[in-house]
Amino acid sequence: MIRHLKSAHLFVDVDNVSDLPTRASDRTFEVFNPSTGELLAEIPDMGVEETRAAIDKAYIAQPEWAALTARERSDMLWRWHQLIVDHTDDLAAILTAEMGKPFAEARSEVAHAAAYLQWYAEEANRIYGETISAPSTDRRMLVIKQPIGVVGTITPWNFPASMVARKISPALAAGCTIVFKPAEQTPLVAGAMFALAHQAGFPNGVINLVYASEGDAVGRELCSNPKVRKISFTGSTEVGRLLMRQCSDQIKKVSLELGGNAPFIVFDDADIDAAVDGAIQAKFRNAGQTCVSANRLYVQSGVHEEFVDKFTKKVRQLSVGDGFDPGVAIGPLIDKRALAKIESHIADAVANGGVVRCGGNRIGSEGTFFQPTILTEISRDTTVAQEETFGPLAPIIRFEDADHVVRDANDTIYGLAAYFYASNLKRVWRVAEALEYGMVGINTGRMSSEAAPFGGIKQSGIGREGSRHGLEDYLEMKYLCMGGI
Ligand code: NAP
Repeated sequence: MIRHLKSAHLFVDVDNVSDLPTRASDRTFEVFNPSTGELLAEIPDMGVEETRAAIDKAYIAQPEWAALTARERSDMLWRWHQLIVDHTDDLAAILTAEMGKPFAEARSEVAHAAAYLQWYAEEANRIYGETISAPSTDRRMLVIKQPIGVVGTITPWNFPASMVARKISPALAAGCTIVFKPAEQTPLVAGAMFALAHQAGFPNGVINLVYASEGDAVGRELCSNPKVRKISFTGSTEVGRLLMRQCSDQIKKVSLELGGNAPFIVFDDADIDAAVDGAIQAKFRNAGQTCVSANRLYVQSGVHEEFVDKFTKKVRQLSVGDGFDPGVAIGPLIDKRALAKIESHIADAVANGGVVRCGGNRIGSEGTFFQPTILTEISRDTTVAQEETFGPLAPIIRFEDADHVVRDANDTIYGLAAYFYASNLKRVWRVAEALEYGMVGINTGRMSSEAAPFGGIKQSGIGREGSRHGLEDYLEMKYLCMGGI
């Protein structure tokens, strides 16, 4: 079924994925390398019937999976973790080929995915209930935790390996079973990880993969099928809103990891060299295509010139190209639509007085490579200050007053991640508490970790991934009251 996987690194025969549902048609869709345009694979295109079949398998498998001991579930997650670690380079090669990110970043994403599996293999053994002091002597009151049931998951293209682990490992640790739909552009690494899960010995039906080019049909089935008890989605706020609406008929639980519009604030008491390094990480990792990417940089007047000069010098050194080429820091954008968006944000900013300090253009007439770009003299009303760009574009807004900048930073429907650099302890606490975001990086440009609760507030989402809190998202609480004691 998988054809054209020419790279020597692409070892995994994705036909090995045993947990694909029986095909209802022989439709296929194509997967391309965004760096070269090369056709990588043609894979089964599934729809409502296959999704329903996958849900049925997950539904049948769930009670037996939940009935295993926590240690047994943990052992299987450990085996999967080890296989992923052993195949890091192969998985990273698939990731770079289908998504475009530099190979070193792809390796780091696979390590991040493995870390989630490790974390939840451990956490599976730590599902605790509670006892409550009853208000009368003839009663005993307690709370037990139980798996929610079948979980439908839908994921985006920007972290396709990490998404598999972040969603599946806490759900499996809790005793849930899964139907998983990866993004149309990046289904191959998910297929490879599922093949490794098969080798790890997960029982048939526990995790089920649905490849689809039309996410909406699969999404509707997952949301409307009563056998699915929860939807876990990562992607745009627009689609998250739609799925939440579709889940409302059955009051289905949702976890939503949605879009962001992260502010990155540099105060005049910051270590500027550290702030520049942090901004490079927070802005240009994955070509700016991360939900926690710094989208708007606010720099206080007193350090504005120093920051812009040092930042521009470093950004000019970032090399753009095929993720397999050594030394490449920025790969292609995912598609032509992403290119058009970044160009429109730059045009709008320039029309409103913005100045291009470096970059600003596509690289080559083919492909989707874009120069890392810095804009200054940006006003708060421009599109680039209001909307998620999802590309290698850093707009810098000068500010004078610390209170105003926090107000501006919070003036958005999003509340995923924020960053700031400062050294005054009082300021650090005050600003950290005042920022209306689910995650705040203080003097760091990178904060994602399996040990911490990742997620947003406002229209950036509901629920958390990672840490002990991530497990709670897949558990129901049941209150038991024993009378006549
Ligand atoms: P997207 O368009 O929302 O797509 C995400 C997933 O939803 C894909 O699998 C897509 O399938 C599917 N989908 C699209 N329309 C659907 C529908 N009507 N019903 C059901 N499923 C549907 O987002 P994207 O462009 O791939 O990803 C970028 C967005 O994700 C950004 O906004 C980013 O901030 C956000 N994101 C958030 C986090 C976080 O943790 N908060 C992490 C990563 C990304 P197809 O591929 O088939 O279209």
